[in-house]
Amino acid sequence: MSEWTLDRVERIFIDRRVCETPVAKRAMALVAPEKIEWVDAEPLAERHGELSARDFDASKRLLFITEFKGKFFKRCPGARPGLTCCNYFVLNLGSQCNMNCSYCYLQSFINSPVMKIYANIETALGELREIANDIHDQPLRVGTGETTDLLSLDTLTLFSRRLIQFFREYPKWRLEFKTKSSQVEQFLDVEHAGNVIVSFSINPQVVVEREEHGTAALEKRLAAARECKNKKFEIAFHIDPMIWHPNWQNSYRELVRDICEKFKPDEVNVISVGALRFQPEQRHMMRERFVDLSSWVAGAEMFPSADGKLRYDEQLRQEMLKFVIDEFRRHSREWRIFLCMEAPETWLGAMQSMPKSLGNLSEMFDHGLTRKVLCR
Ligand code: SF4
Repeated sequence: MSEWTLDRVERIFIDRRVCETPVAKRAMALVAPEKIEWVDAEPLAERHGELSARDFDASKRLLFITEFKGKFFKRCPGARPGLTCCNYFVLNLGSQCNMNCSYCYLQSFINSPVMKIYANIETALGELREIANDIHDQPLRVGTGETTDLLSLDTLTLFSRRLIQFFREYPKWRLEFKTKSSQVEQFLDVEHAGNVIVSFSINPQVVVEREEHGTAALEKRLAAARECKNKKFEIAFHIDPMIWHPNWQNSYRELVRDICEKFKPDEVNVISVGALRFQPEQRHMMRERFVDLSSWVAGAEMFPSADGKLRYDEQLRQEMLKFVIDEFRRHSREWRIFLCMEAPETWLGAMQSMPKSLGNLSEMFDHGLTRKVLCR
């Protein structure tokens, strides 16, 4: 399936309370009027709760532009006891993703029959401004890719442009767009403070085709990364989740070679590597939705790990992670690599070192700042 475009949305519900926001106005300009419905309350509310596989699929084609009433700014889900994680905060400007990866963790908790975009971005920025009163001069990292892929919907929302402008006021802070799309053109002309990282989750094209439906082709993601770099945005790659498949070594070797041919180590901020993992409760839905598509993920043999997620066997995990790390090191020892959401023993097995001992990454693992924000 090719990369997602707005015409895949079957219906757009717009909450009357946000009718004056730029997002609502843009939706009206871009989408055929017969697809738009104005509402005063959440649509299809009676279908809330545990979604069937069919309802989950449908939720990706029904878009609700509304406002978010809770707290926008919260902690990265990786920060749990037993996991090695970095100072990272997530800003969710929507819920549910327009793309459709077989392993997607949203399958374990989305319970709304519609995909949501929160048009009240200015409220979110207000929260950040309050935090800035305390710590504007410290290195806070804010990412946007937990419950939605902000860039993939950005042709509609243009949130990227507003966020980049906002972060220009706080040059010590970092903004990270994490994406599997290639949608970057819409913000490349925005002036920035050199503190925006566009980080692309990537996988070999065979994995993209079989497991990452509606995402951009690998080649397009790498081309988008090059465009960002040319405009002096920082870039990062997440080879995550690595997925076992026949001849996986060849696929990942080619992926590493592709990156090494197109980028120099000093052009890429960081490369994170992680192996497949997911919540046990999403397995049923994954099988129902993807087994007919010959998914390598839906049929994988997985084992419970200390954090409750299902993962590949520890030895296979270490072998896969180490393989990618060694491939990069074969090209150059200058690549900055870290393992995402992995337990300390996996770090040791795959890298022979713990993150605190990797000088260039140690700042990412200073939890003092995180505590300060959370305790405000
Ligand atoms: S891009 Fe991310 S959020 Fe979207 S379906 Fe894939 S894994 Fe889920």
